[in-house]
Amino acid sequence: MFQPEIETMTREQLRELQSQRLTDLVARLYEHVPYYRERLSEAGVSPGDVRSIDDITKLPITRKDDVQNNYPFGLLAVPRSELARVHASSGTTGKPTVMGYTRGDLDVFAEVNARSLAAAGATPGMVFHNAYGYGLFTGGLGLHGGGERLGLTVVPVSGGMTERQIGLILDLRPGIIACTPSYAQTLAEEFRRRGISPEEIPLQYGILGAEPWTEAIRADVEAGLGIKASNIYGLTEVIGPGVANEAHDEGQGSYLWEDHFYPEILDRDTGDPVPDGEEGVLVITTLTKEGVPLLRYWTGDITNITHEPGPSGRTHARIGLIRGRSDDMMVIRGVNVYPTQIEAALQLVSQASAHYQLIVRRQGTLDELELKLELTPEAFNRVGQGVLEGGIIEVDRKVDELRAHIQHKIRDIVGIGVKVTLMGPGEVPRSAGGKLRRIVDERKL
Ligand code: ADP
Repeated sequence: MFQPEIETMTREQLRELQSQRLTDLVARLYEHVPYYRERLSEAGVSPGDVRSIDDITKLPITRKDDVQNNYPFGLLAVPRSELARVHASSGTTGKPTVMGYTRGDLDVFAEVNARSLAAAGATPGMVFHNAYGYGLFTGGLGLHGGGERLGLTVVPVSGGMTERQIGLILDLRPGIIACTPSYAQTLAEEFRRRGISPEEIPLQYGILGAEPWTEAIRADVEAGLGIKASNIYGLTEVIGPGVANEAHDEGQGSYLWEDHFYPEILDRDTGDPVPDGEEGVLVITTLTKEGVPLLRYWTGDITNITHEPGPSGRTHARIGLIRGRSDDMMVIRGVNVYPTQIEAALQLVSQASAHYQLIVRRQGTLDELELKLELTPEAFNRVGQGVLEGGIIEVDRKVDELRAHIQHKIRDIVGIGVKVTLMGPGEVPRSAGGKLRRIVDERKL
């Protein structure tokens, strides 16, 4: 552990710290951010009304729109000249969001990333291959700061240029890699293509995140790179990566560093709190942020939470793997479908590789969901060989049977019929370094 005294503090101590920090935060926002002064007044809350963390439910929710409408510096709680850096979200779901960081914020950013790297298996002195993108995106510089704080030897390679990444990994012998799970898959494939076995790859650990992933993808990259892979979660509005991280030796949810970020799970429709273990939207209050602190930020990410201490003695709450963003939810003929549900069905199909894409179209008035699924090379050799046309495996009896089998599994779990197109190895687009878009929505709604 990087900070055992904080990571294992009792729930009572944590609550007391959160209460103090929330009281202070509301006072700061009321005094320095006109937008929040107005929203708090509308909600009938004055700073004196907030005395404990339980009072958080009285406070207004902040949404992405609120941040964007105040672009670029409308939500600053400090003079602009006190900002040491800005970052912006990668813009996966529309207009990017710009956030400002004070020196204090950068310090917290490094601290939570050092904690996360240590939880993922890094130890001081280890070489750290950081293949998250550098630049406005928070991933590269966020983990970079954490690596330096923990005492790692940071290789700031950034995303892309797979050839060079492979060479550096073989030459510099890093113990840990950071990148998106989809890019870890790309790297694993490239090693395999070159005939380099997982045992020959120096990496021992991976700290992967920035996009939704599943146990099937984890199994794929762990086997392909010969690593133990942990989940890192975060978002620009809250700070960037390092909001939550799994412990590599536990793997039962990601510790959300609650001394800085207060989590709530709320019902996506009613906004009411949901009990531990049930799914809802993760909402986070930045307890210590100075530059652009946010009250109850609606992340849109769907997950569940537990407040039970973990096996390592860490006491901070743990969130499950993110099921997806609420905006990734596809409504197909009235049924809510997440890509991760399709993946859960594919885990039951031994011929399915971890590479797929979902295409949503509208045929007349009906929605159609097409799954473009790559077979594993072994399955391809059995059913597909010789019938590959333009990447697509053409109809014959064995292929038809397999397709029907997959459709059946998906209908069982997701409850809808999908069109299945089987593809040959390497035919579905890969991550070239950053976040992978697995859904292509061709409906013009
Ligand atoms: P953008 O919304 O433009 O992608 P960011 O670069 O700030 O902005 O990315 C934050 C988002 O990335 C999160 O809200 C979440 O949807 C996704 N994300 C980050 N880490 C993970 C993770 N470990 N698992 C699933 N999704 C993640």
